[in-house]
Amino acid sequence: MSLLPNSDIFSPFFYAGQLDKEKFRRFERLAELFTWIAVILGLLILQLPFAVYLNKQVIYIIDAAIGVYALIWYRLIPKRFSGRLKMLLSNLIIITFIAFIVHNTSGVQGYLIFLYFLAVLSVVMTLPLIYIAAATSYVIFLIFLEACLTVGSFETNISLAVLHSWALLLVVFFARFNVGQASLAKKREEEIILGREKTVGDLKDEFVYIISHELKQPATAIKGYIDTILSKYSGSMNVNTSEILNLTNINSDRLSKLLDDLLDISQIEKGSLRINMTDVSLKPIISEVLATLLLDAQSRRISLVQKGTEEVAAKADADRLKEVLTNLVSNAVKYTPEGGKATVEVKKEGSFAKILVSDNGIGIGEEEQKHLFEKFYRASNEKTEAVKGSGLGLFIAKQLVEKMGGEIGVISTVGQGATFYFTLPRYRW
Ligand code: ADP
Repeated sequence: MSLLPNSDIFSPFFYAGQLDKEKFRRFERLAELFTWIAVILGLLILQLPFAVYLNKQVIYIIDAAIGVYALIWYRLIPKRFSGRLKMLLSNLIIITFIAFIVHNTSGVQGYLIFLYFLAVLSVVMTLPLIYIAAATSYVIFLIFLEACLTVGSFETNISLAVLHSWALLLVVFFARFNVGQASLAKKREEEIILGREKTVGDLKDEFVYIISHELKQPATAIKGYIDTILSKYSGSMNVNTSEILNLTNINSDRLSKLLDDLLDISQIEKGSLRINMTDVSLKPIISEVLATLLLDAQSRRISLVQKGTEEVAAKADADRLKEVLTNLVSNAVKYTPEGGKATVEVKKEGSFAKILVSDNGIGIGEEEQKHLFEKFYRASNEKTEAVKGSGLGLFIAKQLVEKMGGEIGVISTVGQGATFYFTLPRYRW
């Protein structure tokens, strides 16, 4: 097992400094505040009696320069410059200012060396390792440069520079470790919460799947009985019984459709929806779907028309394709007033087959078109509300079409009908 970089010991070092934009902005605001406090406190502290060398004039100038810098950096430079590189640059500039302050006090022999530590700490807490290495190296370089410039014994100055560098490395090491530990702990906590939410979501999908699956069997049996009674005994029934049975039949169809939709949805959400792609000829599939919807359409005096004679083959799952088509055509029938017309047409469009389902029904408004393919969405107007539906059909159709490698869409004007279309990759092109 490798010790780097996934090992538990080292992971905090690599994990810290992964701040998002919002946190960066907050850190920047904090850095601005900190700079102002440092400038003001610095000026006050300079008034204390020190028994060491201090070039006060130069330090006043540097203090003022830091103030001007803070004003330009935090207030005048546009926010689009925010980011890691900007933060590193800002810290390198501060470090350079500190170098002047250190040089104008007692150099490596003075106390103000600790200012470097503060600047490096800010880098350690917010930036990735490579930036920390850059900032730390820069500070160590400045400390050694100062050792050469500070008056007094050269050996003593170099020894002090080594001591400061060692202390700096220790601070970097421990600060990075602690910040990393805290960040990792927070990340783990978030993962646990996410995991819990996911488990609840999975349970809900599983629950919907099991219930729909269990209800499907009795629903199919009831439908079978009603069909049998209607076909065998309808002649011997009085009008009332026959009407009741027909209504029961319609409701049983709706129940089956709803259960099928719920089963599809739970499979889509679980990611277990299986698609069996084969080469399919579109014309016979369209004819078959139109034939199954014919009775329904006739009962509403809607004519179903299949347009075009050209044979087009596509790559698709035949059953899923029928499901999509059935949904679009039955919507065309549902949302078209009596006496209207629904047309299905296939076209070749480059390497795709395009299937269009048009009607001259109630149409759909522009705002509503944006939401049509969302789960449970139903347009809210009197005409739609008069029709029974769950708002699941188009959501499922979109998922299925996309799974088969195509796209789905709609063109419509209120009151003038709608054309739903979807594409499928063509088999021969
Ligand atoms: P459902 O028809 O069960 O409500 P769908 O997902 O199939 O669910 O359709 C969602 C909504 O899209 C419908 O409630 C209806 O408002 C609108 N819609 C779908 N097809 C048509 C159409 N051909 N003409 C007008 N509106 C339609």
